[in-house]
Amino acid sequence: MFIRSLAAALFYLSWMVLFLGSITAGVCAKVTEDFVWHHLETRHTIIHYRSIEDLKQFDRKIAYHTGKWGVLSTIFRSNSDTIHDKVTKKTDGIFEKAQQLLDMRKRMDKVNIYICRNKKQLHDNYYKIFRRPCRYRAWYAYELNAVYVNHQDLDEGMLSHELAHSIIDHYLLVRPPRASAEILASYVDRHLFD
Ligand SMILES: [Zn+2]
Repeated sequence: MFIRSLAAALFYLSWMVLFLGSITAGVCAKVTEDFVWHHLETRHTIIHYRSIEDLKQFDRKIAYHTGKWGVLSTIFRSNSDTIHDKVTKKTDGIFEKAQQLLDMRKRMDKVNIYICRNKKQLHDNYYKIFRRPCRYRAWYAYELNAVYVNHQDLDEGMLSHELAHSIIDHYLLVRPPRASAEILASYVDRHLFD
């Protein structure tokens, strides 16, 4: 009986060690990551954000409204929208306006938008990808089809500019020279409200 109990105890002990070990490994994996990204998929984009508060900050910085109600929609209709609805409408609205301004409308892969909390996070992400210091307020990486923005330093013009880079680079079979792409993207942010 004792021997059987001891064997059983050892069995359970080893199982618990394995079980706790796996939990600890899971926790470590999370800790070693910078943070966990949440996703909001819209018609044209996949928005990656760290917390609802970050998504709200993004929403506050982006002044853009679509539909026949225009600005009035902010007064009469937006209160019933969730934060996800509001961000989705604004982002897709800006994307479609950029497509219209560029006259580059075709089906494209969804562009990733990463909402960083501050300049440091924006620059850290740039360094991780390009291995050189970041000197931009927002940026676009063709290889990842990703736009990175900092919600502390952001407006609708900046977002439209970076989304335009994705549209321009994916519309043409051959990517245009960087200077040409820059002229086109700048045209979009200057004429967003035309
Ligand atoms: Zn640019």
